[in-house]
Amino acid sequence: MRVLLANPRGFCAGVAMAVEVVDRLTNVLNEPIYVYHDIVHNRHVVNRFEAKGVVFTEAINTIPEGSVLVFSAHGVSPEVRKQAKLRNLRAVDATCPLVTKVHGEAIRYAKVGLDILLIGHAEHQEVIGTRGEAPGDIRVIESEADAESVEVKDPERVVYLTQTTLSTDDAERIIMILKRRFPQIKAPPGEDICYATTNRQGVVAKFAQHVDRVLVIGSSNSSNSVRLAEIAENRGTKAMRIDDVREIDSNFLDNAERVLVTAGASAPEDLVQQVISHLQSNYSAAIDVIDAPGEAMEFALPATMRKVLAAEGHEIPREGISIDADRVTRDWMNRESIAFTPITSEGGML
Ligand code: SF4
Repeated sequence: MRVLLANPRGFCAGVAMAVEVVDRLTNVLNEPIYVYHDIVHNRHVVNRFEAKGVVFTEAINTIPEGSVLVFSAHGVSPEVRKQAKLRNLRAVDATCPLVTKVHGEAIRYAKVGLDILLIGHAEHQEVIGTRGEAPGDIRVIESEADAESVEVKDPERVVYLTQTTLSTDDAERIIMILKRRFPQIKAPPGEDICYATTNRQGVVAKFAQHVDRVLVIGSSNSSNSVRLAEIAENRGTKAMRIDDVREIDSNFLDNAERVLVTAGASAPEDLVQQVISHLQSNYSAAIDVIDAPGEAMEFALPATMRKVLAAEGHEIPREGISIDADRVTRDWMNRESIAFTPITSEGGML
């Protein structure tokens, strides 16, 4: 077996920042930390924090007054912020800045009276939060059928926004329908589907056709992980999403000579490394690492966290949080003396 290890993959800067927030608060404050919703959509991340005493809940009325409450990377609606305030909770906002950007767009367009078509999954926490900014003005478009049937007040005053973790394939098809039906429809000022989603999907789209199977590490509620598996399947390559190494199905890997391994934006790198080790031990896998430029993205720790820490007399962190899964992997492989072959991002050496 040859394993093709995707790059970029795994933690994005937004997830790294949100995880860092909960980690630091847990380590520094001598009190229980509450988090609204899963901090990121990964079972292992949540379980590890629960083991350290972090409480994940959406029942704000059950949180003791005055507690620290972290809003997850997916963002929350103004209603949730209001409830937290009414309960005198010390809110720390770990919303990814790229989600906050979409909230800002929703607020701006609603103010000038545009109909907003939000392309995304209605039950996803991010969409629930964004929609909450202007519930009367936002309609969620989940499918091509929705795009075909949606009616707006004025077809000349309509804008579309998208969930940050959508499949670029699906979004494109839906946007084409909306543009056909509403030729004057406005696009968001910058792409809403974020850099991390685009880059991870781009690798799968480019390489899926060169391999026999695709393994995606990520949880079932992780939108971008599920999309990665879909994108491979759409290109005719069997794909499987797994939470961790224990879920690898040997039947799935039967006769597979080349396997692409990738991870959703909320999947920790150690889970990827366990999968690689398993494939080396059980399939004598040789490792090829896609040699792509790193993702230069850094997010500041939230000002609300600095405020909470300062009030308790703790040091105020100023640095930004970034992540480079490729460097982490190469350090690990060098440390463990794991041989790997760099593969150009154009697939030239495949
Ligand atoms: S996937 Fe994109 S929007 Fe979501 S946390 Fe990561 S960078 Fe932010």
